[in-house]
Amino acid sequence: MRKPVTALTHPHHTRKTHPINSGQSPLLKSCHTPNVSPHLPILREVFGYDAFRGPQQAIIDHVAAGGDALVLMPTGGGKSLCYQVPAIARQRAGHGITVVVSPLIALMHDQVGALHEAGVSAAFLNSTLTSEEASDIERRLLRGEITLLYAAPERVTNGRFLAQMDSLLERGLLSLFAIDEAHCVSQWGHDFRPEYRGLSVLHERYPSVPRVALTATADALTRADIVERLQLESAELFISSFDRPNIRYTIVEKKDASTQLLRFIEREHPEEAGVVYCQSRKRVEEIAVMLCESGIHALPYHAGLDAAVRQRHQNEFLREEGVVMVATVAFGMGIDKPDVRFVAHLDMPKNIEGYYQETGRAGRDGLASDAWMAYGLQDVVNQRRMIDESPAGEEFKQVMRGKLDALLALAEATDCRRVRLLGYFGEPSTPCGNCDNCLHPPQVWDGTDAARKLLSTVYRTQQSSGHSFGAGHTMDIVRGKKTDKVAQRGHESISTFGVGAEYSEQQLRAVMRQLIAIGALHVHTEEGFSTLHLTEASRAVLKGDVPVQLRESTSQRSDKRSRTRNAPAPAAANLGQDAMVRYINLKAWRAEVAKEHNLPAYVIFHDATLAAIAESAPQSLGDLQGISGLGVKKLEAYGAQVLRVCNGGA
Ligand code: ADP
Ligand code: ZN
Repeated sequence: MRKPVTALTHPHHTRKTHPINSGQSPLLKSCHTPNVSPHLPILREVFGYDAFRGPQQAIIDHVAAGGDALVLMPTGGGKSLCYQVPAIARQRAGHGITVVVSPLIALMHDQVGALHEAGVSAAFLNSTLTSEEASDIERRLLRGEITLLYAAPERVTNGRFLAQMDSLLERGLLSLFAIDEAHCVSQWGHDFRPEYRGLSVLHERYPSVPRVALTATADALTRADIVERLQLESAELFISSFDRPNIRYTIVEKKDASTQLLRFIEREHPEEAGVVYCQSRKRVEEIAVMLCESGIHALPYHAGLDAAVRQRHQNEFLREEGVVMVATVAFGMGIDKPDVRFVAHLDMPKNIEGYYQETGRAGRDGLASDAWMAYGLQDVVNQRRMIDESPAGEEFKQVMRGKLDALLALAEATDCRRVRLLGYFGEPSTPCGNCDNCLHPPQVWDGTDAARKLLSTVYRTQQSSGHSFGAGHTMDIVRGKKTDKVAQRGHESISTFGVGAEYSEQQLRAVMRQLIAIGALHVHTEEGFSTLHLTEASRAVLKGDVPVQLRESTSQRSDKRSRTRNAPAPAAANLGQDAMVRYINLKAWRAEVAKEHNLPAYVIFHDATLAAIAESAPQSLGDLQGISGLGVKKLEAYGAQVLRVCNGGA
């Protein structure tokens, strides 16, 4: 295997711009960089925010000054500003355009729309444009009139586009390349896109043009691959804390998944927007129907649907309130809807990177949100099978198995989930107080005896029959169940038959999952049959040297959400009666503006901005100044209307 070039092997290029998480979110604190950034005026004027978050200032100052950077920041951390502010600053200084490479054609329209709303000259080039529209943009591009141009990697690397870049460069108008979702360049990331490999041409052809690559995927292997593939060896590395303190992590044992999901949504998130991830298209369809029949506004999304249907569902999710998207992992990258209140997994993802990326789509607005997963033995077996049966090479499979094991260990954990998640990304932390295990420390029982009985049964059946069996049959033997298969195989005579009669099937399943998670049992799949095998690690468990601690299986907890120090209430939770009336009117007004502009409502104003306006009971434009999220352009465009709405006008 190639030696990973991790951050640690590049000490001089590494700048940890934020102290490793101390339990408190750097994202919620303002930055302590002593000197005021020359770019603060742009943040205030264009975006209407008063302070940079976490490492934004350091990144923006570095990139605006022409430095290369690799930015690792969790979803919702505020990556967009890390290239948008430098793009604006450099355009104002006469350096010309910034090209933003993004894989997400379906979202470019809204991204550019959001910049237009803020008064920034932006455009996108992709296959959804008519040829007239495209040539119009190219003309404006060549005149240097555009500040940010969004394009997909295959466009950026084609000859025609490069010729246009050459012409801009000659005239000193090629300012910056921003490579978004940079993990797409790596096969170790979870969204490998071969087109990204071609992006090395940018550095080779335009060595003098600075580049900033951004991603929310942090594991060392992927990181090293990005550095190598995009030739970012001399770029400065900016790593932020990966903590998302407003997200509460919960992993429940899967019993009847769809009922569990329905109860979770009804109890915790009625009428709220969320995403439900399922493994297969079929399952997506079933769950969407089930939710709809239960009165929940749910839509399916998967690669088997028509592109037009997918786009329509995506738009509905982004533009309407309280929609639940039921989707395969085909959905979600680049979705910047700020008020997704929950992400639910009905099937286990492949690895922690995927899980963290997907759950990270909840709560970009920093308000309390849930990441909820139902997980069971079948998930483990399925994921193993997918790896075993994939046509990939053995080296690749080995890496994938290791990644799956880490996720299994997370799912089986009885201690703080967040400590484990952050630990996986190399970030030490202390118990968070906002995950299921912290909020309701699970009862733990000693499963060592049950584990030994299971393992010796696997051993003995193997010995007596010369081949291996699956989980169900093994448990039947341990529990002494006289099934047809037991009779046929003569397994009643195995010495461990019935030795674990005191355990319930559910308990044994839990033990089995735990054994797989710690690598003491291996599931092997061939031609659709999964069988159990002992491993090196089994011996220590059999001898009783490794205690097996298990969570007591609980019935679904029924307590309501308890807000913790880390989880601020929704935007409008603290408004008084009059302010609430203003807030509701403002939302209705915003919905109309959004419709007129064919943009999601949050692109016009976030809920938090509307709540702040409602709270301030503004009488004049002056009263609106300084409200977070209200920049100069929006004040000019909407200030008068907002005042009218707040003061009883239509
Ligand atoms: P990412 O791309 O890292 O997932 P975004 O760039 O979409 O995150 O930012 C997440 C949210 O945080 C957005 O709604 C954005 O407007 C907001 N945001 C980013 N930076 C700031 C800031 N300095 N002050 C206030 N809000 C911010
Ligand atoms: Zn915790």
